[in-house]
Amino acid sequence: MAPGAESKTTGRSVLVTGGNRGIGLAIAKSFVANGDKVAITYRKGEIPAGMLGVRADVTSGEQIDAAFSQVEAEHGPVEVLVANAGITRDTLLLRMSEDDFTDVVDTNLSGAFRVVKRASRGMIRLKRGRIILISSVTGLYGAPGQINYSASKAGLVGMARSITRELGSRGITANVVAPGFIDTDMTAELPDATRTSYLATIPAGRFASPEEVAGVVTWLAGDSAGYISGAVIPVDGGLGMGH
Ligand code: NDP
Repeated sequence: MAPGAESKTTGRSVLVTGGNRGIGLAIAKSFVANGDKVAITYRKGEIPAGMLGVRADVTSGEQIDAAFSQVEAEHGPVEVLVANAGITRDTLLLRMSEDDFTDVVDTNLSGAFRVVKRASRGMIRLKRGRIILISSVTGLYGAPGQINYSASKAGLVGMARSITRELGSRGITANVVAPGFIDTDMTAELPDATRTSYLATIPAGRFASPEEVAGVVTWLAGDSAGYISGAVIPVDGGLGMGH
């Protein structure tokens, strides 16, 4: 089955962190379209139609635990987890404060750890599960001004591979999706000059839509990707190839 094609497996309990907007929302919608029971975490704003919204900040273990309990009560144990919530605090190394570094790591890397740990309990009991961590091309390629962000995103690769080694025999897969430049609120913050210079380095010559990431995530969670684990799948128009 090609990436983006509908999975034969439906009706699963799916949780997407940061599923209220951007890439997370596109991922959540594509699981809804596949017939899954989809829950999203959000911190503020509206809950998208057709999904269960659970308010949670990934920097709080207590809020994550409460969110999972609510999802389990309404949809059953989480079988597909997408750790998508993420932030940037870009600045050059010499200007980067320790808070700029630790806040980004606490959300992007420790946040993923919190949800993965909580989800794994139910997945081990179910004897199946799909964990998909949303990293970034800069996790492997690096980027000036993103020492905090790229370190947090590179950490997700080691996390997925260690999960694979620990839980691979329990029917659980863990993979990383590494997007390049995707049109969302996150990249809307980029100055025009930066945007133009990035565009010149992307072989595809364009940014991608969130839906182009979502198609790969739903494919990874589907039947035909059952033997893929510990992989890093780029969705970057060729920007990071070789890394
Ligand atoms: P957005 O800024 O559009 O959305 C970020 C999402 O993360 C929001 O739903 C936000 O929730 C949530 N979030 C942030 N911090 C927390 C937190 N502490 N607890 C819970 N939720 C939180 O980003 P994108 O959609 O662009 O990015 C999604 C993921 O993809 C991120 O991990 C990002 O690093 C990654 N990525 C994005 C790329 C891009 O080009 N856009 C490229 C490569 C990777 P809220 O609405 O409450 O703020």
